[in-house]
Amino acid sequence: MAVRVRMAPSPTGLLHIGNVRTALFNWLYARHEGGEFRLRIENTDTSREVAEAVDHIQESLRWLGLDWDGPHTFQLDRMDDCRRVAAQLVADGKAYEDEGAIRFRMPDEGSTGWDDVVRGRVEIPNETIEDLVLVRSDGRPTYNFASPLEDVWDGITHVIRGEDHISNTPKQINIIRATGAELPIYAHVPNVAGADGKKLSKRHGAVTVAEFRRDGYLPEALLNFLALLGWAPDGETTIMDRDELVRRFELARVSPSPAQFDYAKLDWLNGMYLRGLSPQELGHRLVIWLGENGYDWDAELVARTAPLVQEKISRLAEFPDFAGFFFGDVEPDVTDLDGGGPMLAATEEALGSLEPFDAATIESALRGKADELGLKARQAFQPIRVAITGSKVSPGLFESIELLGRETTLSRIRAARDAAG
Ligand code: GLU
Repeated sequence: MAVRVRMAPSPTGLLHIGNVRTALFNWLYARHEGGEFRLRIENTDTSREVAEAVDHIQESLRWLGLDWDGPHTFQLDRMDDCRRVAAQLVADGKAYEDEGAIRFRMPDEGSTGWDDVVRGRVEIPNETIEDLVLVRSDGRPTYNFASPLEDVWDGITHVIRGEDHISNTPKQINIIRATGAELPIYAHVPNVAGADGKKLSKRHGAVTVAEFRRDGYLPEALLNFLALLGWAPDGETTIMDRDELVRRFELARVSPSPAQFDYAKLDWLNGMYLRGLSPQELGHRLVIWLGENGYDWDAELVARTAPLVQEKISRLAEFPDFAGFFFGDVEPDVTDLDGGGPMLAATEEALGSLEPFDAATIESALRGKADELGLKARQAFQPIRVAITGSKVSPGLFESIELLGRETTLSRIRAARDAAG
């Protein structure tokens, strides 16, 4: 039978990165097996308007390149079908009415078990499972009733979900059995934890896709990183693009131990992907990121600065701080200019009529001036850097001067000289 899996998010706010990792495992498994990945919105518990959350979920999945098969479906659309099954279960003596609600009669003896792809055999004593409400007194089916029914109706072959659902699984198994349908295979993947071992939350850092996007991570780097939260093809390979991930992903190799979200590793991986882009592609990504984050900066100039920053930043969001001096005025800290007066004067003189005004020519002219003043390069160039970039850390000085152009460079040097007194 062809593999069919699903992501079944509850539309409550922003998409948590742990849920995305679980969705990714579903998606990788489906694509690896040539099967289907469905998107199903579990909104029985949500009475409020969910359109915005649904849009957000889809937008996040699209950004990461996780495409789903067929239209997305809503649990609420199947309430009537759920109520019909509940009535049948009552008629069969497998469920009963209780203060207006319908409850399922769980077995009291023995245990309910399954062979979990990730965790092996799991057995839960039936005496610990209470009679479950299937339909509330207001007529709404519960998640634990609707979800397994939908798995059956949708022909889901593998339920791959977070380990926090393990306690729901014996309930859902008993419901499916009571309807006479076949059980899917279950795989409960580990939670995503922060460095302290606690479930990843705001306290640890960014947790929603929207935040990672805003912080300037590349979707392909995030995807690669997420795939390694609880899975590894071997002990070594770290960098894998989508195709390689799809080719190598094995559900049976997912580890049951908690996966730790290492922000430093993500930054490192993102830097690797960022440096692996062509300068044109990096420019393109920067323009998009800047546009999404409210910067109205000249796209052509952004593209021209891309090669200068590529080795220096590890996230797109570092660009405004690092390269903002190309797009607006600077306010150097006067104390950083201290003692720079003679070199600033010499620079103004050297650049005034320099031809051609390119990085190599600028470099040799400024090195010549430093020599004349008996200054070491570092000492000599620091005040120039501060004067034109406003910072002690910047892209390559000579390339930056070339790109800024003579006029802007000279006016900043003059302003710095005035400020330094
Ligand atoms: N709606 C559940 C969640 O967001 C998913 C349940 C499932 O995958 O069966 O955690």
